[in-house]
Amino acid sequence: TENINAASGMPAEDDAAAEAAVKPVVAVVGRPNVGKSSLVNRIIGRREAVVEDVPGVTRDRVAYDASWQSCEFTLVDTGGWETSVSGLAAMVARQAEYAAQTADVILFVVDATVGITDADEAVTRVLRATKRPVVLAANKVDGELQEADALVLWNLGVGEPFPISALHGRGTGDLLDAVVAAFPETPAAEGAEEEGGPRRIALVGRPNVGKSSLLNRLAGEDRVVVDSVAGTTRDAVDELIELGGRTWKFIDTAGIRRRFRALQGADYYATVRTSSALERAEVAVVLMDVSEPLAEQDIRVVEQVVDSGRALVLAFNKWDTLDEERRYYLEKEIDRQLSRVAWAPRVNISALTGRHVEKLVPAIETGLASWDTRIPTGRLNSWLKDLVAATPPPVRGGKQPKILFATQADARPPHFVLFTTGFLEDNYRRFIERRLREDFGFEGSPVKLSMRIRE
Ligand code: GDP
Repeated sequence: TENINAASGMPAEDDAAAEAAVKPVVAVVGRPNVGKSSLVNRIIGRREAVVEDVPGVTRDRVAYDASWQSCEFTLVDTGGWETSVSGLAAMVARQAEYAAQTADVILFVVDATVGITDADEAVTRVLRATKRPVVLAANKVDGELQEADALVLWNLGVGEPFPISALHGRGTGDLLDAVVAAFPETPAAEGAEEEGGPRRIALVGRPNVGKSSLLNRLAGEDRVVVDSVAGTTRDAVDELIELGGRTWKFIDTAGIRRRFRALQGADYYATVRTSSALERAEVAVVLMDVSEPLAEQDIRVVEQVVDSGRALVLAFNKWDTLDEERRYYLEKEIDRQLSRVAWAPRVNISALTGRHVEKLVPAIETGLASWDTRIPTGRLNSWLKDLVAATPPPVRGGKQPKILFATQADARPPHFVLFTTGFLEDNYRRFIERRLREDFGFEGSPVKLSMRIRE
């Protein structure tokens, strides 16, 4: 399994975590008319009219969110995959190949009332060659009388046929038990971070940009309740501050406030302090000083935030000092140096006068909402299908990589995984990220995009 992260968004170091976050993928394969769509509808509990299972007719959606006995998985209907291969058996075999490349478990559907056809045998040949577990569904066994039909399917040599009726639901529980039992072992979920409490903000920026002043303005120096830990002055101290009618937790304000700072080494709260604050935060407000040119250190802090995967708000402080000329250069500096985070909301404030400080909270809320976003798999895939139809991935080494489907593996920040048959160029992945942002927003949040290609 190969996992590649888009160059534009996030670091590649958490590939293992990304892989773990991808829900198991179950691909439904089989020739047309065996009832794949009905089975998909049955499993996802959809009551909509069943789409005709006719060769050449592509369904508008490919992948769905599904679950069985509290196991969540992505269900893929391979009948929705277009292939240019002519001939039914070849087309179905190709779809099975794609399924084998992308799925963790293959759900092979055969029409028990018809028996084994050439196309079923073509699928079987492909599936035998893969190492993926296969669960065989003998469909259209609507009653006990047809049970005997299912037994014939042992002859396929892919294991026990599960007699089911996708239409009536008969036998699908046992079938899904077998599917879930075939899932790969997943590592135990990590302990949830402090959920449910106040949302956590890191106020970061190089020295002297005005962090301490802003914090004082937001909290009011005298009303501050510090949660101070006895002993060393290096302990992080968080503050609860009420803003815009809700309580927020500002992380490690001891590293920010002047009266604590005097007690500590000057370098200490630079990079190290920032990264430990980011680790515990959900959103970062990066404060910059507009009275001076943007410094490399400002950009480095912004990059630290993006790399940490936290939501981001850019706050330009000391706006009271700005004159026409400086303003002109500032815009140029922002265009040139912060184009990578053009998606971050910007607020122009003055901690000194209080100008526009109230705009911080809406910007933070926007960033957090984007950071939390989850796009349902069905919706994501109908969007992706249109996108890829209009602009297919470029040919690479004489081959056209196909994007078979996508899922959102994770939120906080949103992380999308594209299941492909080949490598997608950086440019194309950036194009997809750009279009994701155009169509779904994600203002104020990094977006991660990776590919999953399997041999
Ligand atoms: P920190 O190191 O980021 O915490 O920065 P401080 O809050 O200590 O501020 C550094 C200096 O900038 C102090 O002299 C502040 O008075 C000044 N300062 C902070 N905010 C503003 C502002 O909005 N306008 C102006 N003119 N000065 C500010």
